[in-house]
Amino acid sequence: MMSHSIGYARWQGDMLEMNYVLKSILVVVALSLSVTTAAAHKEDARTGDADKAKVESKGKAKSTAKVKKTRKAKKAKKAKAVPARLLFEKMTKAADVPAQAFGSYAKGCFAGGQQLAINGPGWQVMRLSRNRNWGTPRIVAFIEKFARDAKANDGWPGLLIGDISQPRGGPVGGHASHQLGLDTDIWLLPSPDRRLSLAERESLNTISVLTKNKKKINAKIWKPAYLKLYRRAVSYKEVGLIFVNPVIKRKLCKDAGKDRKWLRKVRPWRGHYSHFHVRLTCAKGDKQCKNQPKIAAGDGCGADLAKWFKPKKKKKKGFKFKFVPKREMTLASLPRACRRVLKQ
Ligand SMILES: [Zn+2]
Repeated sequence: MMSHSIGYARWQGDMLEMNYVLKSILVVVALSLSVTTAAAHKEDARTGDADKAKVESKGKAKSTAKVKKTRKAKKAKKAKAVPARLLFEKMTKAADVPAQAFGSYAKGCFAGGQQLAINGPGWQVMRLSRNRNWGTPRIVAFIEKFARDAKANDGWPGLLIGDISQPRGGPVGGHASHQLGLDTDIWLLPSPDRRLSLAERESLNTISVLTKNKKKINAKIWKPAYLKLYRRAVSYKEVGLIFVNPVIKRKLCKDAGKDRKWLRKVRPWRGHYSHFHVRLTCAKGDKQCKNQPKIAAGDGCGADLAKWFKPKKKKKKGFKFKFVPKREMTLASLPRACRRVLKQ
């Protein structure tokens, strides 16, 4: 019994010992596992942080680039938004290169401009402070020739020249066209028979040949010399058209008699009762100059003119006129060549 119990006790002891050893092994395994896991966690955490930092720095770089891009775009937009009129107004001299016109009459500019002398045989330039007595050499030559011819042949005492263009053309305040150096305004007030002072050229006003309500010709002002002047103006090959008020065109249609061919180039347009507007065609070979569309055949005294005298449709009751200010033309809307013209 004794030996049996001793054996049992030994066995029990062995078992206990084994149990202890097993437990120890388990503890060691568990510990090592937990250490590895912790380390792994730590490593994971570290890697996670690094990734996060990486993402963050990438994001930061991206957002900085984005901000820079937006800033640049805003700046470019702002630069573009500057009215081209202001840029061309600053130009006090012509671009000293061969003469060339770029674009269309109402969206363009020119290089190689010339300044019309402020006085000449048969003309005087008005409103000198505006510095708008510049144009392509062709319009300068045209004015000189027209003034001389009208004085010599039509008894016109002298032309008073209004706006031509700025030194390099471009958009100009108060006009839709006059941008190519191919348009000029000529006053309907005949020049006085003396040299006007600089002050008078600023203060003297032209006259209207229409009645106050602008519906009829003012018989007290009108004289046959006007018809001669208009006819002379369109007699030159380089003249594409002239703009006159529809009431004036009607008068010319009535008074022209049998000789009517010249009336074709006399185009009715609103305003133009105290001055008329002469437009030259583009010079031959001036490839970037966009001509006016061709005028229909005939004297333009029929339906074309009648349109201007149709009674206007009455506006619906309750209609409210909303004033939307017109956006000024920017450099982006002009031909690319006009940027170069500004720099020349
Ligand atoms: Zn004009």
